[in-house]
Amino acid sequence: MKYEDLKIRQSWTLEQKIDHTVGTIEAFLAKTDGKGYISFSGGKDSTVLLDIARKFVRQGFPAVFCNTGNEFPEIVQFVRTFDDVSIIKPKMRIPDVLEKYGFPIINKEQSQYIREYKHALSEKNKDKRLNGKINKNGRVIGKISDKWKFLLNAPFEVSEQCCNKLKKEPFGMFEKETGLLPIIGTMVDESLVRFQKWLKQGCNSFDSKRIASYPLSIWKEADIWTYIRKFNIKYSPIYDKGCNRTGCMFCGFGCHLEKGMFNRFDMLNHIHPKAYQLFMNYTNSGITYREALEYTGIILPDSKNRQQTIFNYGDLY
Ligand code: SF4
Repeated sequence: MKYEDLKIRQSWTLEQKIDHTVGTIEAFLAKTDGKGYISFSGGKDSTVLLDIARKFVRQGFPAVFCNTGNEFPEIVQFVRTFDDVSIIKPKMRIPDVLEKYGFPIINKEQSQYIREYKHALSEKNKDKRLNGKINKNGRVIGKISDKWKFLLNAPFEVSEQCCNKLKKEPFGMFEKETGLLPIIGTMVDESLVRFQKWLKQGCNSFDSKRIASYPLSIWKEADIWTYIRKFNIKYSPIYDKGCNRTGCMFCGFGCHLEKGMFNRFDMLNHIHPKAYQLFMNYTNSGITYREALEYTGIILPDSKNRQQTIFNYGDLY
């Protein structure tokens, strides 16, 4: 696929995008003997995807929701209003995952590199993470960014394993038991990694390690809201509380990018203060999540060094 292809498709009308999504799902089912399921997070994107699959492809299209224990209560309650949604759970509890593997801070790649460096068994592997390697385009890849090297000496672990334990493993087990394959409501616009993946594989992936369909790849956030309003479909009430991020409540991935703003932890503390306090006191190596986030430079709602915010909670409504 090419960048120009994406731009053309992103400029299509909503009807063209719906047709494209239906066609993508049908092409995926045709190649997998009809073995698809909607990976349903309860967020607005997968809500739209599930609606399209059940309205235009097949009634009662199977859907799966993974209750990591880290979901907004509004999301869990919303998911329960749907028929035919299987609810799966991770084997490990969140505090045990954090204690054993480390906190999900910065982003998946960097936290993985830091974990791999700290636990490397050879100098060669340490060097690989410290200095990276040169790819075929002459670029250095796989390296711990200079900005995050101070975390190599942190008195706690950071890790990407949280996602593996709380999400990947339960979905993997479900797929193994049922033979079903995931249809996922992510959009290319959300991240550079998703854009690069789309350039390689398009909206359906049959060649990579994980066979999966991404039929909303070319959609934009505005399309999602247009679809919700046009078809008057239900969506989680969490959005009407001012929350536009519905993933795991306490995830620290990407939170450093929200500096100086009303960030996800402000929002969590505002909407669910008890959950906020609970998560902040989870530990790794005797260090709380609160301390680890502050060590990383994140200003929390109850941080001592927090300046008086000019944000008015009333602005949310
Ligand atoms: S999104 Fe964040 S908090 Fe949720 S499972 Fe993945 S790493 Fe953990």
